[in-house]
Amino acid sequence: MQKHKCIYCLQLKDENEFNREHVVPRMMGKYQNGFVLSDFQVCQECNTYFSEKLENGIALDSYEALLRMQHLDKPMSDGRKLIGNRIKLIGDEGIFKGIPFTVVTDSNNPYRIRFDSEPMVGIIKSVEKHEYDYYVLEELPIASEEVIKRMKESTQPIINTGIDRALLEPVLIERGYLFKQFTYSEKSIYDLHKEPEFTTAINMKIDSIMRRVCAKTVFNYLCYSTSKEFVLDSRFDEIRDYIRYGNWSDRLWFRYSKGPVSTAEMPNDTAHVVGYMWYPENSHWVFCGCLTWFGDFTYVFKLGDTDQKIQKVNMLNSTRMACFNNVDRTIKEDDAVHIFQTRQARD
Ligand SMILES: [Zn+2]
Repeated sequence: MQKHKCIYCLQLKDENEFNREHVVPRMMGKYQNGFVLSDFQVCQECNTYFSEKLENGIALDSYEALLRMQHLDKPMSDGRKLIGNRIKLIGDEGIFKGIPFTVVTDSNNPYRIRFDSEPMVGIIKSVEKHEYDYYVLEELPIASEEVIKRMKESTQPIINTGIDRALLEPVLIERGYLFKQFTYSEKSIYDLHKEPEFTTAINMKIDSIMRRVCAKTVFNYLCYSTSKEFVLDSRFDEIRDYIRYGNWSDRLWFRYSKGPVSTAEMPNDTAHVVGYMWYPENSHWVFCGCLTWFGDFTYVFKLGDTDQKIQKVNMLNSTRMACFNNVDRTIKEDDAVHIFQTRQARD
């Protein structure tokens, strides 16, 4: 039987050790003319590794996962929760300031998600600004005289965002917050706020797992739109090694930015753009990949060096991008020799 070389691990394997690899991970949408690598390009072992070790890890735990909950054409089932290792949402104003929120899919909500406050106890911090210090129950400090003074000035000195009252009250008494002149009322934070909308700060971490998923998506696309022979070139060994084994090389780089690749014609705000292009660096050009998820967040990174003696047209006749439409699920391919810029203002 003829052996084939996998574009990621470079091992020679039998035909039956290969399977289909989707250019865009299926967690980011399925497309009618979905780009798939078949014909003995990615081996089963690499394919399984990518889905289990990389894609499953970010599926519900990344900024992209939040975008996916909101924008994917096929809504997720209700009640799925965003995990907070890579992304944390914390209330940013007034009574919500400092409360961590969990994002939950909710098809009854116009935004497809709702924000559940985590169970915390809030102690008045500023009577004028209506701000609180929030604690998980175990970390509630002993009440100071200052705090007691503020509490006496406030009409709502304590807020409970979901701790069982039977657990909360003994702790409040023990740490000096509850005494006889206090009537402790329990109102939901939403009752107090009276506003349907509030802002949160989003803290996100772009770790190696996320970067590798992005790099793999672009490298898959490079293979799809050029050829297997092209991506087997040794100039791509560093990015290949990073995608497959997580070994970072200082000769590679990553950049990211809010907003899409400016010159890509996106059919709607939720399409993805995957492409490769040339990027000027220290008076020469490097070959780069770019990827915009859900029209919202863009990664640009180096795929490989160029041989400086070779004109870029000798390496590739053109550079390309594909637009993955998350509304009608089609894909449009186009030439793309564009330099990344930040998002233009929308009307
Ligand atoms: Zn492989």
